[in-house]
Amino acid sequence: MDFEVGKLYHGFRFMSESLIEEINGRGRIFEHEKTGANLISITTDDDNKVFCITFKTPPPDNTGLPHILEHSVLCGSRKFPAKEPFVELAKGSLNTFLNAMTYSDKTMYPVASRNEKDLFNLMDVYLDATFFPKIHEIEEIFLQEGWHLEIRENNEPVLSGVVYNEMKGAFSSPEMLLMRKIPESLFPQTQYGKEPGGDPDEIPKLTIEKFREFHKKYYHPSNSYIFLYGNGDLDKQLEFLNNEYLRHFTREKIDVEIKLHPPFERISEKTYLYPISEHDREENKSYLSLNYVVGKSTDPVLYMGFDIIEYLLMETPAAPLKNALLKEKLGEDVFGIYERNILQRFLSFVVKHTTYEKKERFVGTIFKILESMVERGIDKVLVEAAINAKEFALREADFRGLPKGLVYCIHCLDSWIYGADPFIHLRFEPTLSIIRKALKEPFFETLIEKYILKNQHGSIVTINPKRGLQKEKDLKAREELKRVVSGLSKEELEDISRKAEALKKRQLTPDPPEILEKIPLLSLDEINPRAEKLPQERHEINGRTLLFHPIFTSGIIYLNQIFDVESIPAEELPYISVLSYLIAKVSTKSFHYTELANEIDKHTGGISFFPSTYSAKDTDEIYMPKYIARSKAFVNKIENLVKILKEVISGTVFNDKERIRELLFELRSRIEMSINLEGHSYAIRRLLAYYSPFGRYVEELSGLNYYRFITSLTSDFEKRFEELGERLSSLCKKIFSKNNVLLSVTADAKDYVKLEKQLGEIFEGFSDHKGETIKYEFSELDGNEGLLTPGKIQFVAKGYNYRRLGYDYNGTMLVLRTILGLDYLWNRVRVQGGAYGCFARVSRNGNFYFCSYRDPNLRETLEVYNGAGAYLKQFDPSEREMRKYIIGTISKLDSPLTPSMKGEVATDRYIRGITYEDVQKARDEVLSTDSRKIKRFSEMLDDLMKNGYYCVIGNEAKIKEHSDLFARLVPVFQA
Ligand SMILES: [Zn+2]
Repeated sequence: MDFEVGKLYHGFRFMSESLIEEINGRGRIFEHEKTGANLISITTDDDNKVFCITFKTPPPDNTGLPHILEHSVLCGSRKFPAKEPFVELAKGSLNTFLNAMTYSDKTMYPVASRNEKDLFNLMDVYLDATFFPKIHEIEEIFLQEGWHLEIRENNEPVLSGVVYNEMKGAFSSPEMLLMRKIPESLFPQTQYGKEPGGDPDEIPKLTIEKFREFHKKYYHPSNSYIFLYGNGDLDKQLEFLNNEYLRHFTREKIDVEIKLHPPFERISEKTYLYPISEHDREENKSYLSLNYVVGKSTDPVLYMGFDIIEYLLMETPAAPLKNALLKEKLGEDVFGIYERNILQRFLSFVVKHTTYEKKERFVGTIFKILESMVERGIDKVLVEAAINAKEFALREADFRGLPKGLVYCIHCLDSWIYGADPFIHLRFEPTLSIIRKALKEPFFETLIEKYILKNQHGSIVTINPKRGLQKEKDLKAREELKRVVSGLSKEELEDISRKAEALKKRQLTPDPPEILEKIPLLSLDEINPRAEKLPQERHEINGRTLLFHPIFTSGIIYLNQIFDVESIPAEELPYISVLSYLIAKVSTKSFHYTELANEIDKHTGGISFFPSTYSAKDTDEIYMPKYIARSKAFVNKIENLVKILKEVISGTVFNDKERIRELLFELRSRIEMSINLEGHSYAIRRLLAYYSPFGRYVEELSGLNYYRFITSLTSDFEKRFEELGERLSSLCKKIFSKNNVLLSVTADAKDYVKLEKQLGEIFEGFSDHKGETIKYEFSELDGNEGLLTPGKIQFVAKGYNYRRLGYDYNGTMLVLRTILGLDYLWNRVRVQGGAYGCFARVSRNGNFYFCSYRDPNLRETLEVYNGAGAYLKQFDPSEREMRKYIIGTISKLDSPLTPSMKGEVATDRYIRGITYEDVQKARDEVLSTDSRKIKRFSEMLDDLMKNGYYCVIGNEAKIKEHSDLFARLVPVFQA
């Protein structure tokens, strides 16, 4: 329908409308007359519709108020008084996105769905949650999501809470600590100096009164920003918003200014300590950062300009500043941070694994390099390459698993909530054409001079390591807590245990059916019974298979070359992963690595290399080790893409010792970062390696064994460099062979003929190596390890292979996974245990496991896993409950794929031998699941847990306390 500017539509005044050609959409701006609520809509033909309501929520302190509130409002509301409507939606809606996010000055509540009715249901639950949450009546919500005190046996007081543990996990890595301290140093007087997520040391200072007040003040339509996106019926959506919610409110004046911090008179300096393990070295473990406030996010030219500046100074292998800092040996890892999603954005230069004494040289080098860049001008080839890389990403708009509308919403908020045009960042063409001036004029140079060299609003933040600091802090906190508790009166102690008991009681009492039924649920006939068919044609090229996926891709070709690597001997396996990190970042015969990086950015959307291991569809004893070269470019650049790929594949040389040293130390640092933050993925790989041949292979390429390999390679670098170079060169010949390759292409059908001709040429770069398939015999890994880190929390994994115990795969298992993950584990491990997350995974090849995430416990969590079978025995859901789990399972199966992802999924299935019939059969089995079929898994779960292994990674002291559980304790980070 057409909207007329100035008119009222269901209480919304229509303010303006315009085309946003860049995203093929029509943007409209409304204001709700009665309340002043802000609303924008973007109408496109995308059926993945998005709704989001956002409130400005500047944090007043470091107690995590906005974050705890974000969790809590989703725990029951006026119309939907169930304990956790959010979880009910996760169990049983067709959402393609469902979450809430706390930022430094706002809180977002976005949902997405391709089904119109479903979207209205999601909107209803989310709006009721934000405007009418139960937090004002039910204290236990705050105790559960925020923090509470429990007195355990031996009178030991313990602090717990979901956000409390989530943030303990977030603060477990030095990078996260640094990321917190930088804004604190730059904005000491405004909201950005506060921690919106909550500093675990300060969360227990938050009172329930302050918490409730914060909601009353900020969660009001007059402080709201409502976003609608997609092919939905806008008129109907406005009607719903007004009738059901907004018209019941009146306009209020809410004092919620996002403050600009005044500039500094001079750069400030701050130093902090962070904990490292007692087994780790203290030398060379500091972090140095130089940080600058670089303008407001309402200026589109600065917004995009500094994005590109950060990339060209600190990210690309051609980055002159990064390379200078490495050459000067200022640190083992160098990276940039450009903080988005705040009004006053900042840019940081960071060196990691360095010493405090290098601070002057670090700052001096940055100034020297930037001054000479400003004086002499930045290399125009680099400028062009960096702009092209940005432009490709903008035009491609491939956000993988995230709905497009959600990403656009985040961009809109970057200007909208600060009073500027909401569509200014989506309309990127005018900005790009201003930025392209940089190809001829000193554009970036001017920005660097103004916002860095001549800017005093900056800081130097250092964090230094301290061995055993975590233990010291834990001990102090424990003593302090004991002291506080021992000073409490009898009444106060009774109050604590009364609260803890009330909380436990609420957690253990299931919602009655009539309460759960208030949450809307689709019927099964609203679900498409057919699985989506992914287009795939089989062609032949130079005697090898080419899989073609004719899909509309906006003029882009996605080309994956998939090589068999089953002839690579066991001792060379970790080198495959090393190769992935180095290739395309070191020089080739024709190009220095900086030139190569620029070539790649100028002509392609990026190329990357990585190993990928596929297990056979019905056993993990047979697996297909592959190596993938992934690339993309605009179709009219296919010739350049092929040329670059040929050069990298056949012409890479591994003789630049300094460059390879830099990259290996960077690699080591990046792995350490990911172990701290993503410990669960390491725990799972380790667990699978205990019993699965497939898992054992993967461990060598990407698990803890691989990390050990990298540490020894870096420590012995001098001795091993020569051998390394030879191995990598010979590995290239073995891998990139015309006898090994499978091509997978995704592009518009009309482009195929043109592509085929070019793709033939790619074979000129391949060797004709022929290898024998190797049967790998790895040394056994003893199971049940405790892996010690200086982190504050644990990741607990346990599992086994059900096929080995005589059970077969069935689509019903996918529903089982939903039930276990969102009901059993959610209630026991998250709600009662206080862990931030917990999930079950089931694979066609027989592997089944549980894993927890940022978990304060370990023994209790393992006991929960062991009890899964008993839980199923008495599992007795109504028809409605069962339908909910089925719909939730289908929503995961149907999560929308971008064109590149469709090609990848189709190729994976081809390699594993999974047919469309297999996929359809599993879907049929999901749709026909009933409680009887689920209950039958009880025995299987008991069997799995009885025969299963486990692996725990996390807090050193905690694991040692429970050392009786483990076959051995292994420090992860060792000097
Ligand atoms: Zn959270």
